[in-house]
Amino acid sequence: MPAQIISGTEVAKQIREELRQEIAELKQKHNLTPGLATILVGEDPASQVYVGAKEKTSLALGIYSERHDLPADTSEEELLALIDKLNKDPKIHGILIQLPLPKHINETRVLYAVDPKKDVDGFHPVNVGKLMIGEPDYLPCTPHGIQQLLIRSGVKIEGAEVVIVGRSNIVGKPIANILLQKKEGANATVTVCHTRTRDISLHTKRADILIVAAGKPKAITADMVKEGVVVIDVGVNRIGKTAEGKAILVGDVDFDAVKEKAKAITPVPGGVGPMTITMLMLNTVKAAKLAAGLV
Ligand code: NAP
Repeated sequence: MPAQIISGTEVAKQIREELRQEIAELKQKHNLTPGLATILVGEDPASQVYVGAKEKTSLALGIYSERHDLPADTSEEELLALIDKLNKDPKIHGILIQLPLPKHINETRVLYAVDPKKDVDGFHPVNVGKLMIGEPDYLPCTPHGIQQLLIRSGVKIEGAEVVIVGRSNIVGKPIANILLQKKEGANATVTVCHTRTRDISLHTKRADILIVAAGKPKAITADMVKEGVVVIDVGVNRIGKTAEGKAILVGDVDFDAVKEKAKAITPVPGGVGPMTITMLMLNTVKAAKLAAGLV
C-alpha cells in the first residue's frame, strides 16, 4: 500500500486557523494583542526570506509584528541594547533573533540576553532546562512541529520505538526530550544517533517512528528502514537550481524508495518546514497569555 503522505502544509493550516480564532478572542475578551519582534542582522538572502515569512504569518493571524533589520556591522553592544529595550516593551511578548548572526557577534551571549519569558524560540538555557525536567513554558518550534505532525496524523507515539538521526540543540536533542516526556503525545522509547554511532542501520531498522535531521541528502535509504515505519524528514538540502533559477530542495531521506516501505512519510518541501513558523506563532500567543496571567 502506498505510504500516507503527511502534509505539514495542511496540518499547519489547521493550527493557524485555530490560532487566528484564539487571537481574535484574546483581543475581544481581554484587549490583548500578542506581539512578536524579529531581529535580523545583515543581509543574508535566506534569512531575509525566513524573517519575511514570519512577519507575513504574524500579520495574517492578527499578531502585532515589529521587524528590526540591522546592518551587518551592528556591534554586539548595539544588539544587546535593542534586546534590552524589547525585553522591557509590554507590546512585545516574543523576541526572535534570526540565526546565524555575523561572526563578530557572540551568538550565545545574545541568545542568553533574551528574557526567558519572551524566548519564543525556546533556545534560552532556562527554557531548555524546563523542557528537560518536563515543565516547559515553550517547546522549540521545529521539534514541537514534529510532535504535532505525528499527533494530528494519528500516529501512536506512546510505547513506540523512536529513532532520531541527528543530535543538534535545535532539532535532535529537543525532539528526543519532547517524545520522552511522561505525557500524552509522548511516552516513546527514544534512541538518538549521530556520526559516531557504530551501526546506524541497526537502529533505524528498529524504528516505528524515524526522525531524520542530519542535513545530508539520502542519509537514509530504503534498506535502512523496516516495512510500516513512519518517517519524519526534517532535512532541507539545496541540490541545485531549476531552469527558472528556483532552488531544488530535498530532504535527508531517499523519499521515492523509502515511501514504498513506509506507512507514512513527510515530503520535502511541504513537511516539517511549514510547521516551524506556525509553532513560533503558537509560542507567541502562549507568551502573551503568560504575560497577562491567563495561563
Ligand atoms: P546540524 O546542527 O548540522 O546537526 C546535524 C546532526 O546530524 C549532527 O548531530 C550530526 O552528527 C548528525 N549527522 C550528520 N550526518 C549524519 C549521518 N550521515 N549519520 C548520522 N548522523 C549524522 O543540523 P540541524 O540544525 O539539526 O539541521 C538538520 C537538518 O534539518 C538540516 O538540513 C536543516 O536545514 C534542517 N532543518 C529544517 C528545519 C525546518 O523547519 N524544516 C528546521 C531546522 C533544521 P554529529 O553531532 O556527530 O556531527
